[in-house]
Amino acid sequence: MPKTYNDLYLAARRRLRDAGIEAASLEARELICYASGKDRDSFLRDARLYTSDEVEGRLEELLQRRTAGEPTAYLIGEWEFYGLPLDITRDVLIPRSDTETVAQRAIEIARKRGACRVLDLCTGSGCIGLAVAANAPEAKVVLCDISEPALHVARANARRNGLSRRVMALKADARQDPPAMLGRFDLIVSNPPYIRSGDLAGLDVSVRDYEPALALDGGEDGLDFYRAIIENWQRALEIGGAMLFEVGYDQADDVERLFARAGFHDIDTHRDSQEIWRAVEGWL
Ligand code: GLN
Repeated sequence: MPKTYNDLYLAARRRLRDAGIEAASLEARELICYASGKDRDSFLRDARLYTSDEVEGRLEELLQRRTAGEPTAYLIGEWEFYGLPLDITRDVLIPRSDTETVAQRAIEIARKRGACRVLDLCTGSGCIGLAVAANAPEAKVVLCDISEPALHVARANARRNGLSRRVMALKADARQDPPAMLGRFDLIVSNPPYIRSGDLAGLDVSVRDYEPALALDGGEDGLDFYRAIIENWQRALEIGGAMLFEVGYDQADDVERLFARAGFHDIDTHRDSQEIWRAVEGWL
């Protein structure tokens, strides 16, 4: 019996749900679009049209890989963050909705300052810095990462979203002193690796076996990058500037303490949509 795109969608969604995948509807749609070469609008428009054996075959292979743990973003090579379509490869962490909290706060700070310089450290795909550049039109944004392949992805994403004019991507190690040529910033924002080394083995297969450990491993207590960035990178911050971090679900208190000990003031923490204390800021 020939199947319509909608039949395919319903069956795919069921398989993803049965495999315990939370965002089954969204992922089923993304995988079908990818397998059929359709964008979202034409998928919706064509829902009652018949598919082909080729599309079904491609989808079947994708579903097998997905249900074995491979994340949809890596299968299709892109993911959306803060309304921006982003190229995604296995060199970068997949942008999470949790991270929109830190992006939102960074945008607020940058917009309030008008013409300003913003640094996104450990940028990965570039998601936070690019969300700032897209939504704070006077901000100039520098994206830094230690990984060359990640910088390659970040640069492609700046181009893809028409932001290259105000965005630059450079190699830097967040645990070392900032290169002097970077100058000073009004805002340094970072979603650094923050998983405790001992917890890596217990992460979900889709994270542990597919996402880059380099982007996850925060050292023994998970706080290595916060310590290093607060200590070393405050010299790249303007007086009156802010540092803003995404933190793990139980790390806000520790990071507030690190800020306080380093002399930051107006330390403040924001909740994400799950009511987790997710973004911590401090001002110099
Ligand atoms: N939120 C990510 C996870 O739990 C970790 C991100 C990070 O280490 N910066 O998989």
